[in-house]
Amino acid sequence: MNELAITVLGTDSCTPTKGANTASFVVNRRVAVDTGWYLTDRLLACGICPLDIEAVVFTHCHHDHIMGLPQLIFYYGIKGGERPKRPLRIYGPAGEIRRVVEDAQRFLQFDRYPELRFDIEVHDLRGGAELDICGLKVRTCSARHAVAALSYRFGNAAGASVVFSGDTAFNPDLIELARGAGLLVHEASYGAKSVREDERWGPSGAPDAAEVARQAGVARLAIVHCGAAHLPAALEAAKAVFPASFAPREGEELREG
Ligand SMILES: [Zn+2]
Repeated sequence: MNELAITVLGTDSCTPTKGANTASFVVNRRVAVDTGWYLTDRLLACGICPLDIEAVVFTHCHHDHIMGLPQLIFYYGIKGGERPKRPLRIYGPAGEIRRVVEDAQRFLQFDRYPELRFDIEVHDLRGGAELDICGLKVRTCSARHAVAALSYRFGNAAGASVVFSGDTAFNPDLIELARGAGLLVHEASYGAKSVREDERWGPSGAPDAAEVARQAGVARLAIVHCGAAHLPAALEAAKAVFPASFAPREGEELREG
């Protein structure tokens, strides 16, 4: 496949509004980027079997990004014989992700329900990592956030690329990671307000996201993680800096490449 398919499972910020999910995506219908609150539910709504998810990469471990993980693990666990023979691979910031996966298993009471156990591989990542996930070339940089956090770039053999900022303040390292990418998916928690000068650890406003897109020379910028009430003004502010900005819809499949 020459294109990358990016399924938008959620765009909301922190707590979902009615019928919505917090920021969460799937690349090529196989690799989830954060779970939001409702990963499993939204996968089914988008016609993707949760068992087809081979890997989950987490930008960081704040609640709105990890809340859906126990549901996915339970779905895998309860499906027993239908489950694929490969492990579920989970990637995230070193020092954080292992604890979150272990806590999810405790929450699901794996000690009382051993039949739910299956093979989960946890991979600690740091900024500057380069690895292969499901045939995609993946690179990371450290994000600027209140907790350990990563931004991710996915590329395929045909040269298509997509970058996910996760939660971050304006970050020159992200500009380098996103250099020349086809699509940058960037958070804009602060709406139309630029916080570039007075916020070192995030999040960002839409003008900050647009400035990253402009300096990185990406083709398109998707504004996410912005409350619906603030989205129209945020999008306008982004377009003033970077005209190829848009707000993706939940359930939409973006094509890149
Ligand atoms: Zn966060």
